[in-house]
Amino acid sequence: MTAPAVEVRDLHVRLDGVPILAGIDLAVAAGEWVTVIGPNGAGKSTLLRAVGGLLPAPHAVSLFGTPYESLRRRDRARVVATVAQSPVVPAGMSVLDYVLLGRTPYIPPLGRESAADLAAVHDVLDRLDLAGFHRRELATLSGGERQRVFLARALAQGATLLLLDEPTSALDIGHQQEVLELVDQLRRTHGLTVLATMHDLSIAGEYADRMVLLAEGRVVAAGPPRDVLTEELLATHYRAHVRIIPGDHGPLVVPIRPTDQGVRA
Ligand code: ADP
Ligand code: MG
Repeated sequence: MTAPAVEVRDLHVRLDGVPILAGIDLAVAAGEWVTVIGPNGAGKSTLLRAVGGLLPAPHAVSLFGTPYESLRRRDRARVVATVAQSPVVPAGMSVLDYVLLGRTPYIPPLGRESAADLAAVHDVLDRLDLAGFHRRELATLSGGERQRVFLARALAQGATLLLLDEPTSALDIGHQQEVLELVDQLRRTHGLTVLATMHDLSIAGEYADRMVLLAEGRVVAAGPPRDVLTEELLATHYRAHVRIIPGDHGPLVVPIRPTDQGVRA
């Protein structure tokens, strides 16, 4: 049996002395798409940061069968690429130079990018509908354009595991679909594994093989979207009043205004 792409065992994270994650277990099979959902502050970003090595998580995270701390530094970037929830935007940097940063693990020390690196970057820019943007300064882009550039950098990195923290929250619905379809297509053609967080529950359920519901730093439900996107679970953990409608690719979650409180004379 092949090792899972991600294996998290009994992960505990404290930040400034406050327990944020308390005993998380999670496995993502190679080629699988798993989406973590949960209310604001549940610990979703913290979990992705721990899996991506951006927070120390000694002995808790293995990627493709190797404990994170045993991966060689140079190999880490080829294994896992992260799109953070709010990446830092370097001042004065062009879109091309920013996306080229994704090729850093392939460029020898003191070397320059090769024609193959540039071709990889232009290919990703084309696929993300950013072909005309390569000379633009990152700071001048709209939020949605910038979000696609962040994803472009991660894809240019060519890692097998993508960690996407709310990759579509700044995008209009057309670009949301375009970006998620592209990620799914790369998953099928290149065997990528995806661990994401998403706020739009219907869209999350349409793309995920499995979902994990996090609340107050613990996994409270996990399984295929139809088992996690239920009126009961969303009422309990989001205090949300929703109706679930069966969809072609997963349950659709529709917020419904509560009738008992919402009616005014
Ligand atoms: P989510 O992504 O699910 O909204 P986060 O993982 O960003 O949640 O945050 C989980 C909790 O950890 C929140 O309550 C947040 O305020 C807290 N937190 C995040 N960073 C720190 C920090 N550096 N120190 C203390 N608490 C933090
Ligand atoms: Mg978050």
